[in-house]
Amino acid sequence: MSYLTLLGTGTCQIEHERRASSVLLELDHTPILFDCGHGIVQRLLEVGIQHNQLEHIILSHFHPDHVSDLIPLLQAGAWSQQNPRHVDLNIYGPPGVTRFITSLLDLFGANGLRQPKAYQIHIHEITDNRFSIGKQNFEFLSLPPAGNHGLRFRWHDKTYAITGDSHFHAQEINLLSGVDVGIIDAGHISDQEIIELAIATQARQIICSHLYRQLDSQQLQTQAQHGGYTGTIQIGHDLLSLLL
Ligand SMILES: [Zn+2]
Repeated sequence: MSYLTLLGTGTCQIEHERRASSVLLELDHTPILFDCGHGIVQRLLEVGIQHNQLEHIILSHFHPDHVSDLIPLLQAGAWSQQNPRHVDLNIYGPPGVTRFITSLLDLFGANGLRQPKAYQIHIHEITDNRFSIGKQNFEFLSLPPAGNHGLRFRWHDKTYAITGDSHFHAQEINLLSGVDVGIIDAGHISDQEIIELAIATQARQIICSHLYRQLDSQQLQTQAQHGGYTGTIQIGHDLLSLLL
């Protein structure tokens, strides 16, 4: 079975209901984490995945609300007495990811966040808009202005896209155009821009995430339909899961 689960639909805001940004993909039982903001290591446990089972983490960019739980995740891998890491960890990200991760590792000292005799941390700097994990191909497309990258992939004849952080611009429309499911940053753009994005991309299902404010899905849906949108807009919540 394969799933896409919103582990965190929040932002830098500290809230009861929402952890920071993260989406978990489970593709034929291979877990792949897209972003790892605050509270996500606990959310992983809630869906039955221990930190040390993860072998693949993709980072959209290096804002704290997308990366801050890398620290507890890496420390637990190195030092947990119950679940220490025995398998290598691959971290994928945009240009700068090598410097970012090595700086983080160095900041906490030689073995604070790693145990090189037990496992390796492989850093993959993505420079040509695409990469693969096993046989699965991913597109990794720049979404200005914060160095952020969106992820797009096909799985069982459907196309999925996740924006991470974004703003309303041509690159975002391109990422989301015609996808079956788009997980969007709805917090940095206005209601009107969410509506325009839906109309311009005709993404079949848009799930609003990275939420700074309350959204009214009914109102967004109605206005988007008036503009010719034929898909559905829904508001994401933590642990919302789709069977892929
Ligand atoms: Zn963010």
